[in-house]
Amino acid sequence: MTTSEQDRWSRVKSRLRSNVGEDVYTSWFARMDLEGVQDESVRLSVPTRFLKSWIQAHYAERVLSCWQAEMPEVHRIDLTVRSAVRPVVQAKEAPAPAETRRAPAPELRSTATAPVSANHDALGGSPLDPRLTFASFVVGRSNTLAHAAARQVAEGRRGDPVMFNPLYIHAGVGLGKTHLLQAVTWAGNSGNERKVLYLTAEKFMYGFVAALKTQTALAFKEALRGIDVLVIDDLQFLQGKSTQAEFCHTLNALIDAGRQVVIAADRPPSDLESLDDRVRSRLAGGLVVEMGSLGEELRLGILKSRVAAARTHHATFDVPEEVLNYLSRTITHNGRDLEGAINRLLAHSKLNNQPVTLEMAEREVRDLIRPSEPKRIKIEDIQRVVARQYNVSRSDLLSSRRTANVVRPRQVAMYLAKTLTLRSLPEIGRRFGGRDHTTVLHAVRKIEALVSKDNALSEEVESLKRQLQE
Ligand code: ADP
Ligand code: MG
Repeated sequence: MTTSEQDRWSRVKSRLRSNVGEDVYTSWFARMDLEGVQDESVRLSVPTRFLKSWIQAHYAERVLSCWQAEMPEVHRIDLTVRSAVRPVVQAKEAPAPAETRRAPAPELRSTATAPVSANHDALGGSPLDPRLTFASFVVGRSNTLAHAAARQVAEGRRGDPVMFNPLYIHAGVGLGKTHLLQAVTWAGNSGNERKVLYLTAEKFMYGFVAALKTQTALAFKEALRGIDVLVIDDLQFLQGKSTQAEFCHTLNALIDAGRQVVIAADRPPSDLESLDDRVRSRLAGGLVVEMGSLGEELRLGILKSRVAAARTHHATFDVPEEVLNYLSRTITHNGRDLEGAINRLLAHSKLNNQPVTLEMAEREVRDLIRPSEPKRIKIEDIQRVVARQYNVSRSDLLSSRRTANVVRPRQVAMYLAKTLTLRSLPEIGRRFGGRDHTTVLHAVRKIEALVSKDNALSEEVESLKRQLQE
């Protein structure tokens, strides 16, 4: 893909993001990739069939119009499903006779030709990425507890009492949920003593819906009940009344039988609005762990682990320490972007046969840096910092006093509130002691005009911005 296509794609994505809003964007579009542009059509891909059909049903028009805003000649969007990385690991042993007897209906069987473990595949598990193991999972402050709980679950043996059931892990996009869940699956299946089944919620839905249609629901249920650990990823995507009812049965059956259930979702159980109360309380009844955002140290660790992984295939690939530091400082959003950054450096240094330098890194990862997101500035913070700078109190700023020593700081604070937050003028007025929005507007214009003439004030404002953005 050319750089200009990349740039264009970044712009289309930002349009889409502001068009549908942050939440919708991360739920449905965060993993959409550009495959290529040809004449009037754009080829995009997503990792799953479910995402594809959802986007086509609900957002096809908007995706097209966002493209047209950048490239009027585009008239078609082709959305495809990227093939998942299929593990090329030999089955450890032939399936035991008992499993052969309990073979599920063929339509539930994964189409993979190289099974991870005969069990996982025969049960129709979702594909696993061989890189997502405990060995490559970096532990830091934000994920210590989740990691420990996951390890505990993975190391349990058949018949052991189950400590937390279900284990429910929630975190935002790209913070390691899938990595941890797949690590549990790999580790749990490696002994071949227990059966660990990893399913995305959509696989659960499609498997189940498909099974219902061909009247093999019983076989499907049987198959599920024959497993020791059920791992379900992205539970927030579970939809539909009958699917939920079935999920609820499955969950109850497994938990009551002392089998382990592990779940990941992008929000806590209480926020899964579409699930009914019984399911929610059952989910909340085990151990609920949140993984927070990745700290700088953790990001550095992840980068290093990615580089090490790349070096097993590309021995000459090397990323200098200063570049790693730069990346871990600037790419703050999520693990997916860290992975993307390393992939780009690798591609670039391979294709051009050049060593990785800081300058190259700055150029290659520019669009992965999202300046507006790292920090959300609050109006209270602005008031606090401004008050401190001008040696007045916060209540002075909110008061109706009109002496010069409070009027100017107040105006500066309102100006910063308008420029550094997304709050509206009336909202800002309310937060400054119930002032009218025209007062706020006046302050914003006043400071804008002064800043362009008055160097000292301009520097003060810049310094305040820096303090707030730190
Ligand atoms: P999620 O499922 O929460 O959206 P993923 O598990 O897909 O996130 O993680 C996104 C990327 O970040 C993957 O490449 C993953 O390997 C990496 N990653 C996230 N957290 C970690 C971690 N703690 N250690 C190593 N890699 C991580
Ligand atoms: Mg995931």
